Amino acid sequence: MAEMYDHTIHSRNTFHNGLPTPDSELENNKHRRPSLYATPVPHSNIAMLCHTPDELVQAIQQFTKQDDTVIPGLEAMQEHYSLAFQNQQNDHRCPAEDLDQLSFYFNIFDRLFFFSSLQNLCAIRLKSIEGHHAGQLDSHRSNWRTEVPPTHACLITISDLTTTKPPLPYQKRMKKYLGTLLHEMLHAYFEVYGCMCTEVCTWRYNTLVGIHGSSWQDAALAIENATCRLVGERIDLGRVDSLAMNWIAAKSMPVEGTLDLASWGMTYAEVRTAYDYYVELYHK
Ligand SMILES: [Zn+2]
Ligand SMILES: [Zn+2]
Repeated sequence: MAEMYDHTIHSRNTFHNGLPTPDSELENNKHRRPSLYATPVPHSNIAMLCHTPDELVQAIQQFTKQDDTVIPGLEAMQEHYSLAFQNQQNDHRCPAEDLDQLSFYFNIFDRLFFFSSLQNLCAIRLKSIEGHHAGQLDSHRSNWRTEVPPTHACLITISDLTTTKPPLPYQKRMKKYLGTLLHEMLHAYFEVYGCMCTEVCTWRYNTLVGIHGSSWQDAALAIENATCRLVGERIDLGRVDSLAMNWIAAKSMPVEGTLDLASWGMTYAEVRTAYDYYVELYHK
């Protein structure tokens, strides 16, 4: 199946030594969801070696606007998704609380929103995270790299919500896991493909992508909009909270009107509410 991938993606994909190939992985899972994996990954001709985060954003924007009929396994995925939400008791374990299932969602989301550019690049774990974070992305390119397996570029940690008191209802947990997974996958996408070849590129990357900078927000919006159509309901990537967290990190809110928040479908008041909430939380 390797020839189905864009060669630029493939040449950057240097981290899967020793891992099972996608084919053998699919073969092993065949009995579980044959209809999803029986079709090849769509060929992507989007150039991934670009010097600006904007081009990475455009790749996602264009891909998520494509004609749905060319997406293999879309119906099976939608069916699986709605089944996962049906008639579950709050104390039941969510499918997303099983690592195999979480990896399954990762593969689906990679195919639907990231043109399979993240395949084999991310290790995933479910774990309680300190400090009110829903998720975390470690990568070999960042300062948070000690726990990333040598076989992968990134490590996605999804906060285990079964331990919260009182426990979150089943459906809320499920939605939170999937939103967090997409959120962290977007971080991984920029971590892997964002160019830092020169000081100019590094400056652009730090300024526009940052933690949740404008490029990250633009791409998150495109993905979130596409979830309505592709998954059947909106998956929340936590864009408002993420922006508020950036302001917390910067220790101040920008003056109202200096950012075009409406283009991200947000209001200043909304982000301020989130900001105030985090100020309160971290000063307790
Ligand atoms: Zn560059
Ligand atoms: Zn984030």
